[in-house]
Amino acid sequence: MGASPQVVLAIPPQVTTLIEALEVGGFEAWVVGGCVRDQLLGREPKDWDITTSAKPGQAKRLLGPTGARLIDTGIAHGTLTVILDGLPIELTTYRVEARYLDGRHPSKVDFVTSLTEDLGRRDFTMNAIAWHPQRGLADPYGGQTDIAARLIRTVGDANQRLSEDALRILRALRFASELSFALADDLAGALHARCQLLARVAPERLMPELLRLLCGDEVLEVLLAYPDVLAVMIPEITATIGFEQHTPYHAWDVWEHTARAVAASEPDPLVRLSLLMHDLGKPATFFTGEDGRGHFYGHNMVGEKLARARLSALRADNETIDAVAEMVRWHQENIKPENLLRWLNRLGEEHLRKLLAVKQGDMAAHAGDLVNERLERIATTRQALEDLLASAPAYRRVDLAVDGYDLMELGFEPGKRLGRALDALLDAVIGDSVPNDREALLIAARSLLADETL
Ligand code: ATP
Ligand code: MG
Repeated sequence: MGASPQVVLAIPPQVTTLIEALEVGGFEAWVVGGCVRDQLLGREPKDWDITTSAKPGQAKRLLGPTGARLIDTGIAHGTLTVILDGLPIELTTYRVEARYLDGRHPSKVDFVTSLTEDLGRRDFTMNAIAWHPQRGLADPYGGQTDIAARLIRTVGDANQRLSEDALRILRALRFASELSFALADDLAGALHARCQLLARVAPERLMPELLRLLCGDEVLEVLLAYPDVLAVMIPEITATIGFEQHTPYHAWDVWEHTARAVAASEPDPLVRLSLLMHDLGKPATFFTGEDGRGHFYGHNMVGEKLARARLSALRADNETIDAVAEMVRWHQENIKPENLLRWLNRLGEEHLRKLLAVKQGDMAAHAGDLVNERLERIATTRQALEDLLASAPAYRRVDLAVDGYDLMELGFEPGKRLGRALDALLDAVIGDSVPNDREALLIAARSLLADETL
């Protein structure tokens, strides 16, 4: 193999230790995949992968003495997670996925003896490069050339490789967005042609890739060029593509507005996922007013429902579903500095921050004279929120200067009425009609005790 020893990558000492331990035992071992790609690009690798000719059992015997912790991640597939001095490293045995029957899972994994074969089963040429501390780079599929040209190209025929494992469709777009790489022409064509296959991929594998795609620098270009791919995962997108809004506040159709809002927001997964879904309710709620303009009354509530249903179909966790639903529901709300305590009470600190980030992204993708003024208003509110939080304000029951026990001493029975009394006190504190002060709150509580409407 045409290894080029002149290239030196900076790899953690733990990785070197594992490679040496495997090679002393008579096997080959190389650093491989995304970590090599990222180093060649001058990016910090996210995780470390080693590929080796040793089978998992053999690797375990050799690595035991290094003091590493070994976790059987997928022994049958030849994957072992090794933790050495706190660094997790994925170790895989040279293998090829023998056959894919369903475009999802290899029906069988075959261990092979050559590195070239192992590199050949990898998705893209830039991910099919290995490196060894003494032997240098092994790059049988032209990965370095493609990296230099900033091009994503499949190892082998694009249509076939996407059909084998349709997750690669989304991975291609995720890498395009994250790395600002272009897609080879045949791959771009195959993405459109094969995108329906994504529907067969286990949703658990899709979500992490989608979130990374959304947070990449090139997300706008990807969303505008591949709405058909996104729409396989989120079919509600289809109706937004080309859906004209007929209002002076919008220069773009619903999908382009969405894409621009996502790209204009900070790269936070929840903020961007919420913006991806924030206007899904628009096509169903559109009507033309007597003024000839488009209106979308209630699109936030319809959108909230659609987002919930879609995210549960995509097996998102409940926390994410609830948070996105909240963002979609409230995205149009005019959040004023003077109402921040109420909003904090409703959403909590983290979600209120994110809602303001959602509103900022949404507003930045509007048209018209008022945009700059409104963006400034949102910025002012965001600053006001930080200032307010720095003063440790009372906006939750636990922040009150009295608690349930104090109220029981006054004569409240434990139960729902006591909860309502605490909420009423909190409401009074937030509304500034009672100070958050023990004596004042006890007086207010005493009058609540006698209040039969509570
Ligand atoms: P990152 O770590 O930045 O997410 P990566 O390329 O390292 O990017 P991983 O998911 O960590 O991605 O996978 C490690 C390597 O395994 C890849 O570089 C690639 O060689 C191979 N690989 C991962 N997923 C697939 C796949 N679906 N099909 C073929 N090869 C894959
Ligand atoms: Mg990786």
